[in-house]
Amino acid sequence: MKRVSLFALAVMALLGASPAPAAEPDWDQIDKSAVDLLQRYIRIESIDPPANTAEAANFVKHFLEENGIAAKLYASGPSGQTNLVARVAGRDRSKKPLLLLNHLDVVPVDRKAWKFDPFGAVIKNGEMWGRGTMDMKGIGIEQMMALATLKRAGIAPARDVVILSTADEENNGTYGIRWMIDNHFADIDAEYVLDEGGFGTRSILAADKLVFGIEVGEKQTLWLRVRAKGTAAHGSQPIPDNANVTLLTALGKAMALPRAEPHPVVAEMIRNIGAPLAANKYTAAIQVNTVSLTTLTAGVGSPVKVNVIPSVSEATLDCRLLPGVNAPEFISDMKARINDPRVSVEMINPPEDPGPSSSRTPLFEAMRRAILKSHPDAIVTPMLVPHGTDSNKLRAKGLIAYGFTPMVLDLSTAGSMHSDQEHIPIAEFQKGIRIFYDVLTGDF
Ligand SMILES: [Zn+2]
Repeated sequence: MKRVSLFALAVMALLGASPAPAAEPDWDQIDKSAVDLLQRYIRIESIDPPANTAEAANFVKHFLEENGIAAKLYASGPSGQTNLVARVAGRDRSKKPLLLLNHLDVVPVDRKAWKFDPFGAVIKNGEMWGRGTMDMKGIGIEQMMALATLKRAGIAPARDVVILSTADEENNGTYGIRWMIDNHFADIDAEYVLDEGGFGTRSILAADKLVFGIEVGEKQTLWLRVRAKGTAAHGSQPIPDNANVTLLTALGKAMALPRAEPHPVVAEMIRNIGAPLAANKYTAAIQVNTVSLTTLTAGVGSPVKVNVIPSVSEATLDCRLLPGVNAPEFISDMKARINDPRVSVEMINPPEDPGPSSSRTPLFEAMRRAILKSHPDAIVTPMLVPHGTDSNKLRAKGLIAYGFTPMVLDLSTAGSMHSDQEHIPIAEFQKGIRIFYDVLTGDF
């Protein structure tokens, strides 16, 4: 055992001796290896369905372990669904951890529609193209690279940091976040979560202002099936009881939503920005309840007969409700507007509504500071997102979850998720690693 005399300690204290500060990371090297890492990650086709994420999880495990961070895999489903958990010890182990959440799976591709190989990770004009670049392998690599950089520098974060890479996010988290919560919650229990969600932008949220939105809440996902019944008949002789016509009339009324009360988080966004939100489909969707008509199914025979009036006609509606809106009331109001006994409205999934997370936390302030260090002109604000993420499942368990995408995006980039144009601006991807690093070295 090494012994240090009290005298030596006193001298060190007098001289103000302290451990040498960690050297500034070699960002050029980190930037280069992050791009290479993301390319290799994109090339793993972890498409959901079937959501076989074993190869992607092993890839992440290998990277973390190369950097001295032990990782554990959790095989969860029948098609190779695999989740990963890794933990870095923090200075204060009495506090619950910060969870860095990302998903390993990606949505399918229509290969013919892609300009580049969707799994080629082609780089062109400073952008990397490929399925998962935005949603969300890019953010996943930013999180892991920042944590690995911290680890290499020998810096312990303020509290434990846990990486959770999930399968099945694109399938409602069945063998991913839900399975982990149901089977291994102790391994991922945390005070805070950083997940995909908010983002920085000079155009989407407000015109000509750099706004960094940190997602504190999301809309509720409510899927409905609307079914009209009628009388089957010969197409040559029109009848009033045509199920298709009944359905079309009902859908017109179903989709005529009354105006919703503005949500407090949106009101706060507008106050922080100091101007109305920019006008586009994204900001429109976070200010009201919405309905999208997504499928229409009718007809008899395969291929369907043009000369047969079917007895049943069906549609599905993807409804997104503001937090706090009562879903059963929303449905009964819709039925009242339709007001036709031949038409039924049935709920396909019950929505979750844990409500938004508070933005009055040390972690939110650490994120604000980290963003302002890289973008001194930014307005940082809590925000609502129009789509669902894994965060709501964790908010329901009492965790404080934020959607944090520390990149400046325009609508064509942010809107490229799930499309045949998915791409990430490389300079922003790299800046995001620094912002994550500054969050993780901050006080939270
Ligand atoms: Zn995603």
